[in-house]
Amino acid sequence: MKQSLLFTKTRKDAPKDEVSKNAQLLIRAGFIHKEMAGVYSLLPLGLRVINNIKSIVADEMENIGSGEIIMSTIQNKEVWEKTDRWDDKKVDVWFKSKINGGSEIGFGWSHEEPITEMMKNFVSSYKDLPIYVHQFQNKLRNEVRAKSGIMRCREFIMKDMYAFSKTREENDVFYSNAQTAYMNVFNRVGLGDITYITSASGGVFSNEFSHEFQTVCDAGEDIIYVNETKKIALNKEIFNEKTLSDMGMKEEDFVTKKVAEVGNIFNFGTEKCEKLELFFKENDGTKKPVFLSSYGIGITRLMGVIAEVLSDDKGLVWPKEVSPFDIHLISIEDKEGKVKAEAQKLYDRLIKSGKTVLFDDRDMRAGEKFADSDLIGIPTRIVISEKTIKEDSVEVKDRKTGNTEMIKNERI
Ligand code: ATP
Ligand code: MG
Repeated sequence: MKQSLLFTKTRKDAPKDEVSKNAQLLIRAGFIHKEMAGVYSLLPLGLRVINNIKSIVADEMENIGSGEIIMSTIQNKEVWEKTDRWDDKKVDVWFKSKINGGSEIGFGWSHEEPITEMMKNFVSSYKDLPIYVHQFQNKLRNEVRAKSGIMRCREFIMKDMYAFSKTREENDVFYSNAQTAYMNVFNRVGLGDITYITSASGGVFSNEFSHEFQTVCDAGEDIIYVNETKKIALNKEIFNEKTLSDMGMKEEDFVTKKVAEVGNIFNFGTEKCEKLELFFKENDGTKKPVFLSSYGIGITRLMGVIAEVLSDDKGLVWPKEVSPFDIHLISIEDKEGKVKAEAQKLYDRLIKSGKTVLFDDRDMRAGEKFADSDLIGIPTRIVISEKTIKEDSVEVKDRKTGNTEMIKNERI
């Protein structure tokens, strides 16, 4: 992509009302646009990052046997009434509306109820199970506070996955596979070293223990308690006397860390399927409720956390697998226009070799181009100028380390 064709412009300052670092950087670099508090649009660079994160997540979910779907945002009130989760007192983040002259509807903040209801059309026998499905879906939540940029939005992209199993044992195998798949995701997006699998209780979702994936981040809203040697992390909810004595540990055995929740997995058990009447017939003819578990990753929140923790004073620093482009190619123009022609040739060659390239072909001063490049944060910068052409080379800079080296053209 040629930067002259990119309609977004970098800016020196973020909007005054934007207090979070992730949104400030992402707005200044032209990745997102703020519509209002907690509501952002994705611009070309931001959408490329989101698509990369999505494809990593999709890859890992497909690897453990899940198929992709997209469910509707508009949801049926009656389905949520069956499990007593329609009431605003039970779920405080509902956005609701009304069909013209008709019934009330809800906007999906989560999808357990609708998907369980839907599965009644596909599940009747033990032969139909297990079923694993996931989706990338815009969730709407009427959050009270929205001061963390794209880490807490009123509209955001979530990957949610649902597992419908015959038994707890069958569920537990998938639950454990999903834990591994989740850590693969966080490793691949560059957050593996600072992300903890944290034991947590189910909150509004269930009475059983569940797990959160918590990434160390100053802008995070949660605190976890970590014992590095035993590789144990506990969230605030369950860090209490009872848990500690059950584990034979003391408060002093743990250090606290400020974290952002990037993922959450939990078992619902059979309760939800009982209420919504999702049953199956066993081998021997007996009728049993399906066992449900549910798995979320905040896709937009992940982009925000990456922006928070992997940036520096010059701007964003994208890990390779999520970067909007592999290479930022910058041509420093001469008067005769010779560099531009050479840069165009190099651009074509890089594209042909399968690289994705943002080509800064704009007529601007070198200093401005470099500052923009640092702000945008593509991992590899290649500069071509009169000087490098004379040496039959290009200058390659690593955005993360700042190291530069001259590399001969034929080696590129
Ligand atoms: P939180 O504790 O942060 O409010 P949650 O426990 O309500 O989140 P889940 O319902 O489990 O979140 O959603 C799955 C994932 O979606 C979370 O782990 C988080 O990464 C992301 N997420 C949740 N709420 C938001 C939001 N308002 N904006 C952006 N991402 C969110
Ligand atoms: Mg949570």
